[in-house]
Amino acid sequence: MTDCKKKDGEANTASPSLSKVCNNNLIAVYESLTTAFGPQNWWPAEGPEEMIIGALLTQNTTWNNVEKALTNLRLKNLLSFSAILDTPLTEIESLIKPSGYFRQKSRRLKNLAEAIVNTGGLQTLETIATAKLREWLLDLHGVGPETADSILLYAFERPIFVIDTYTLRISKRHKWLPENAGYIEAQKMFTQELPAEVSLFNDFHALFVQIGKNFCRPNQQKCNDCPLKPFLRP
Ligand code: SF4
Repeated sequence: MTDCKKKDGEANTASPSLSKVCNNNLIAVYESLTTAFGPQNWWPAEGPEEMIIGALLTQNTTWNNVEKALTNLRLKNLLSFSAILDTPLTEIESLIKPSGYFRQKSRRLKNLAEAIVNTGGLQTLETIATAKLREWLLDLHGVGPETADSILLYAFERPIFVIDTYTLRISKRHKWLPENAGYIEAQKMFTQELPAEVSLFNDFHALFVQIGKNFCRPNQQKCNDCPLKPFLRP
């Protein structure tokens, strides 16, 4: 993989359509995905608090299960950090049971709610620079890089590219990344090759999820039907 850094002094502010100069041609990949699936407008949540709660609940489960848990919380008006903080742990456990690991996730939700409320709420967190806010999120119990970056991108609208198993799988199968690449290397590659635009990063991640779910499965590649077939390398 050759490098695709900006030239010295050159701002990476070109619109996606003007940026088809990078090694892995990721803008062309993005355009093909958009043509195939249309804009995704993620994250599926009503507001940042619901988004952050959903991001914690989605660990190690499907989104269908998360939706059931979110519906239970919504029916009890518990989709806010102050409400979660004021609700007994056992009640949270019972409401989020459909999302799996409900005891662990309930404690994590409580911890997260307490940390956010004690810090002054989302309005205070919004004033913190991205790198510091990322560190703060990663210090929270049960928040790893994917969850932290999802929160940064979708709740705080920071231009951070989220890496998930779909993104890694697709990138390695297309040889955009070496087989042994991990989260940091993948994020670096996407960040270097793409203009730092929240809407682009938002949609790109969601579109990779579509490919990963429908075509690029762990043990099955439906390349002949996949919109990314033209981007396969020999
Ligand atoms: S299914 Fe094939 S063409 Fe589609 S993303 Fe996976 S490897 Fe690429």
